[in-house]
Order: sequence, then C-alpha cells, then structure tokens
Amino acid sequence: MKALAYHGPGKLKLEEVPKPVIKKSTDAIVKITRTTICGTDLHIKKGDLPAVLDGRILGHEGVGIVEQVGESVSNFHIGDHVLISCITSCGKCGNCKKGMYSHCENGGGWILGNLIDGTQAEYVRIPFADNSLYSVPAGADEEALVMLSDIFPTGFECGVLNGKVNPGDTVAIIGAGPIGMAALLTAHFYSPAEIIMVDIDENRLEIAKKMGATTVLSNRDGKAAEKIMELTHTRGVDVVIEAIGTPQSFDICQSIVAAGGHIANIGVHGKPVQLNLDKLWSQNITLTTRLVDTVTTPMLLKTVMSGKILPKQLITHHFALDEIMQAYDTFSDAMKERALKVIITNN
Ligand code: ZN
Ligand code: ZN
Repeated sequence: MKALAYHGPGKLKLEEVPKPVIKKSTDAIVKITRTTICGTDLHIKKGDLPAVLDGRILGHEGVGIVEQVGESVSNFHIGDHVLISCITSCGKCGNCKKGMYSHCENGGGWILGNLIDGTQAEYVRIPFADNSLYSVPAGADEEALVMLSDIFPTGFECGVLNGKVNPGDTVAIIGAGPIGMAALLTAHFYSPAEIIMVDIDENRLEIAKKMGATTVLSNRDGKAAEKIMELTHTRGVDVVIEAIGTPQSFDICQSIVAAGGHIANIGVHGKPVQLNLDKLWSQNITLTTRLVDTVTTPMLLKTVMSGKILPKQLITHHFALDEIMQAYDTFSDAMKERALKVIITNN
C-alpha cells in the first residue's frame, strides 16, 4: 500500500509499504478514506520529536471503513464507517477510567503516527479499536468529521473546558491556527461576551472574524499584550487560551490574565518558558496543561450533526493521497498558501 513515511529530519517520502495486519485481538484495520496533516506532523518532520523513528508512517487523524477486526473487538464490524481518534485508549486502566485517555496505562495515548504507524496511508492498524474508534452517523460529512479526530476535541478540552469559559467572559486566544480556531468555535457554546483573537497572519485573523471573534489583533509589532490591556481598561481577560507553544506566546498569556482568571495552555512547547510568579503569586489565577483525551468526541459529534458547529470552515485545500508531498508543502507554507486544514483523500 501507499504511505507517507518519515526518514529523519526534513525527509518524508510517499512509498510502497506492506499493508498492516492484526497484531492483537483488540485491533482493527481501517481503510482510510480521508485524512489530514497536523501542525504536530510538521514538528516531527523538523525532527522535534526524537521518539518518532525512521520509517514511521505519520498521521493521527482520519475517517475510514473497517476492513478487518480482531476477535475481541465487539463494537465494530467489517464495513463500518468510523472516525479515528488521535488518542488510542484501552478504556479499562486507572487513567482511562478517570477519562484521561491521553495517559492510558496499557500502551495507549498519542501513539498513532508517533510510536506506531499512522493514518497518512491507505490502511492503518488501530489498537483498542472498541474505545479508539467512533461510529460515523448516517448522513455525516466525512470531511467535517476529520476535524473531530484531533483539533476540535483539543481546542475544546485543553482550551475551552480547562479555561473554564463562562457566559459573559472576556476570552483571548493566542494563535489563530486550526487549534485556535477550534477553540474559538467551541468557546461559543458558553456565550462569552468577548473573544479576542491574536495572530500575525492577517488572512487567519480575517477568517477568525467570520467565525465569531469579536476583536482580532495582529501581533506583528509584538504589542498584542499592551493592546489587550488597553482594550480591557487594564483589567485583563478572564480566560486566555495559548494555542501556539512559544515562550513569546506564553508571555502574552501571563501579561493579560485578569485577577481570578485562567490560562489554558494547548501549545506544544519545545523550549522552557519563564513563569512570572513574582507578578502572579497573588492574582488567584489558574494555569492548566493537557494532552487531549478525546472524551468529548461523542458530544462534539452531536454538535456537528446538528449544525451547532461547522468544522468544515477550517478546510482550505484538497489533495489526493498521491499528492501528499504537495499537501505537506502547502501546509508548511500556510501563510503564503492561506492554508488552515488540508484534506487528503484516498479512494
Ligand atoms: Zn494533531
Ligand atoms: Zn487505558
């Protein structure tokens, strides 16, 4: 089968590899129909994640058709239309029982396209299929659902839920990439009064406005924090969602959080940040971190089916699996290409 494999920093190749086979009775093999590329895949490409070994097939998002199931799989059958969660989980260990699928103690967590072969291929092996796949409802739009593998649960759980967004709140989201946009769209569930979106990409800010941001701010001049303090009459914001993962973006968060506010980190940080406790120790704030658990996927599926959220708005480009190298180029150069999410189709 065809698959996109990582061969060390900077080296990706679409190549012919053996089709995956059932290794454990809890596995399923899924034929991928739609997948996408995540910002995390670009980090892997750069060599930022040394755990990803030479030859690894990338990708942790996708929708497909069940091709084969192990004998212990009971929730899914051959031919079922399924959504693949970016988090694999046994559903039985202590952490899974707490709903912390991201830290499954039986070898689950974020393993797809990381520690085991992923979804940027014709077929993928899904361990613990019963708990790691979701049925696609009849009439669902496949492309929209690809956004539920990772970015919507991530924006919602790590940003909106951890940030405790409340009606009437002022929320700031630092980073208008796909994850920041997913946080923006799902923050609306709680009717905040203001959502301020910060980025350096004017095109993304324009889209954020269409998606319901009340204010958009360019940080090209590095003055977003000052502008937000002015806008809020030096009070700051109730919730600040960090959706980039750099020391600079974290700095904005701690400069603008109001007394009693919350900083919800989503960004993948590659470097340490400075925590200004000399200013924050008395401010009654909370700071949260989280790897998405995807426990809200069934709820998010319902909101998509009912039209409450429209994840398809984030899709800007389409490619066939054969064109995946081109898809990587487009996604890597997102600002120039005006790209948010790219859909890769395997027919
Ligand atoms: Zn991802
Ligand atoms: Zn588990």
